[in-house]
Amino acid sequence: MNAPPSTDGPDPSDLSSKFDCAGDILGAGGELLAHLHRSGLRFLPHAGADAVSQWTQRLAAAAPSPDAETHADTAPSPSAAATDNPPTSPGPAPAATSTPAATSTPAHAEPPARRFSPVPATVVSSAPYPGAPLPVAEIATSLQTLATDVAACTRCKALANCRSQTVFGEGPPQPRFVFFGEAPGAEEDKSGRPFVGAAGQLLTKMIDAIHLKRDDVYLLNTVKCRPPGNRNPAPDEIANCREYFETQLQLLRPEYIVCLGAVSAQALLQSKLSIGRLRQTFHQYHDSKVLAIYHPAYLLRNPDAKRAAWADLQMLMKDAGLNPSS
Ligand code: URA
Repeated sequence: MNAPPSTDGPDPSDLSSKFDCAGDILGAGGELLAHLHRSGLRFLPHAGADAVSQWTQRLAAAAPSPDAETHADTAPSPSAAATDNPPTSPGPAPAATSTPAATSTPAHAEPPARRFSPVPATVVSSAPYPGAPLPVAEIATSLQTLATDVAACTRCKALANCRSQTVFGEGPPQPRFVFFGEAPGAEEDKSGRPFVGAAGQLLTKMIDAIHLKRDDVYLLNTVKCRPPGNRNPAPDEIANCREYFETQLQLLRPEYIVCLGAVSAQALLQSKLSIGRLRQTFHQYHDSKVLAIYHPAYLLRNPDAKRAAWADLQMLMKDAGLNPSS
């Protein structure tokens, strides 16, 4: 006589329970990968205390806010962003659009463009810039003196030892608009001028697109020396340069400061929020209105984010009353 089928636990010949378990694992793995992708992490960092702490901070900064939409990792839809077209000229692209190597974090690495509700404005200081505004000739002289100090600076030994020269910034002494970048790249290090490489060429097109002229705006960076290998400047390097860029801004007293990318926005606004959260809001730094937009180097690698950048620039145009005849 055959024994009756056991009712204690699953039939070993029935693999469905095993498939359930495997499905759970695959599902969890998929969710983790999707989360990492949304957070801007495409390659796993080498294990190590520094890497873990760096990526923990980045994931925290990139984590969706409670008010983020469910599919927050999608680029803004045409209806949610600008109704006009973004600047069409993509700028010099192919070299800059290549996938970054697994072991290096690209400069201007930012989480994918996505729809966030804008955060409330950050007010670094609502007080006017300290001191009385100077006559234009004195501003120019003070900037020149500061540039000489910067050229002799050795606060960051690693940067001072590798640079060809410092890149102080350039533009008129009483600009209405300042564009605040991250750090010089190879071309800037060679020439001593900000934004002359591929990202700079795209920035020039963006400036033209909002009916300004590059020569009429002031361009400067958070740090004045090129970080080797175009890595992001380290927090202590930004701290060492803070006095320089703050003095520059205090002399220039622009009406608008456009922060290009997370490094400059976070440094100026003393914030850890991602650029996805800081954009689309006018923040305040003394007398200046501050707008954070994607860095042109990021736009070269992620052309989909150009629509969001154009929406930000349109916000600036509207607020500043920029039009073809201005
Ligand atoms: N990227 C920057 O942030 N600044 C430059 O000057 C050039 C590229």
